[in-house]
Amino acid sequence: MRSVELPYRPDILVAGGGTAGCAAAIAAARRGHRVLLIEEANALGGVSTSGGVNEWFAGLDGLGDIWSRLMADLERFGARFGRFYNPEYAKIVWQLMAEEAGVDLLFHASVFDAEVLTSRIIRVGGAAASHRFQVPANVFVDATGEGDLSWLAGAEVMQGHPETGCTLHMSLTFILQDTGSPVLPYLPPGMTPIDGQDELPGLHGGLRLADGRVYCNMTKVMGKDPTDPVSLSDAEREARRQLVRIVDYLQRTRFPTYALCSSGARIGIREGRRVVGDYLITEEQITGNAPRAVTDGIAVATCQIDFHSLTKPGHGGWRQRVEPYSIPYRAMTVKHLRNLLVAGKCISGDQVAQSSYRMTPTCCAMGQAAGTAAALAVEARVTDVRDIDIDVLQADLARGGMELDPAQHVAFSPELTPDPDKGA
Ligand SMILES: Cc1cc2nc3c(=O)[nH]c(=O)nc-3n(C[C@H](O)[C@H](O)[C@H](O)COP(=O)(O)OP(=O)(O)OC[C@H]3O[C@@H](n4cnc5c(N)ncnc54)[C@H](O)[C@@H]3O)c2cc1C
Repeated sequence: MRSVELPYRPDILVAGGGTAGCAAAIAAARRGHRVLLIEEANALGGVSTSGGVNEWFAGLDGLGDIWSRLMADLERFGARFGRFYNPEYAKIVWQLMAEEAGVDLLFHASVFDAEVLTSRIIRVGGAAASHRFQVPANVFVDATGEGDLSWLAGAEVMQGHPETGCTLHMSLTFILQDTGSPVLPYLPPGMTPIDGQDELPGLHGGLRLADGRVYCNMTKVMGKDPTDPVSLSDAEREARRQLVRIVDYLQRTRFPTYALCSSGARIGIREGRRVVGDYLITEEQITGNAPRAVTDGIAVATCQIDFHSLTKPGHGGWRQRVEPYSIPYRAMTVKHLRNLLVAGKCISGDQVAQSSYRMTPTCCAMGQAAGTAAALAVEARVTDVRDIDIDVLQADLARGGMELDPAQHVAFSPELTPDPDKGA
């Protein structure tokens, strides 16, 4: 492969431009730092845009000004409907916000290597447009969703159920659009028709949104490994075969005038690697009587446990309301690495806790915290992100609209109605 010299010398490099990565890059760049955001796809927002997710699960207030700005700009575009939104507009909003903050964006670029010296990442290697590249930086943020950068740098990771290794299922989301006249359902030969709700592979949705689109988070691919190349590819194939059958069923039943309009640019991964940090957020901590606040809290999670069954179709799992709880800074500092922070769904926690804090609004708050912390590390010239002043970080986040006291947040648990569509 040929190499290319990129024109970037960032202070802070953010790997992955999903919700957490966007918020991290924006938070760091608006303090005047040179920030490079490297993203595999052709747009920002990750699962919450390219992945086709249209919904937010969490309380929406007190999550920081980056989150508030996202919601407000979507509103201006007429693309927000309560806790639903049109992800095509979210791609635009994220990009404009990142450009305004001065973030350098590198799309179509995949990070696949990390050079580490004395527990510090010196540079990352990647590829874009058939060119290999290397970029050095001072501080790194892993917001790849699957903990790619941490794993490449040799960090310890966890994945899936502690006994079986099974991760939460993957889903290829899709959108139906009303054509105004009856459509002719067609199921290719060899495909088994779905003849009732009970035969659906995943959630029973088909949610008609305020803009007329029907959002379907209905495929369910279990038992595949999102971090294994062959398994991930097989998951995409299985999901699309499910999609054909589900569309045929929906056209024969609830949506006889609707055509398939689009599907996620890639299958949605709920859970991949979880990076081992200095602190592990656990099921016991978020369900028990442990204090909801911790001294180094940098964001608050409010969503229920949304643990889909790992083996059964439908939701088939369990949901449990949890009282709002702090995400500790230590869950974002990576064991044995000094200049790396992790943000988003791949921070340090067990599988059940992850099913609660993995939600988009929470990932945004974590991203703002990680980007601000990375900026503080550069400003204070510390060689270890653990050495920043947590009080200063928390004060900065509070000034940026983040409510860090869990008691001021409201628990979010739509499962309290028995509606099978209420899963994320
Ligand atoms: C089907 C589905 C439905 C969901 N429903 C809801 C819901 O209703 N409400 C809700 O709040 N949440 C929901 N979620 C969860 C939520 O959307 C995600 O957990 C959250 O958006 C994750 O954000 P993130 O930034 O941590 O990761 P991601 O969005 O996964 O972002 C990671 C980014 O990193 C990029 N990347 C990965 N590896 C590399 C690499 N090596 N180099 C460069 N770039 C890389 C990816 O392309 C991606 O853009 C759902 C998730 C799924 C899968």
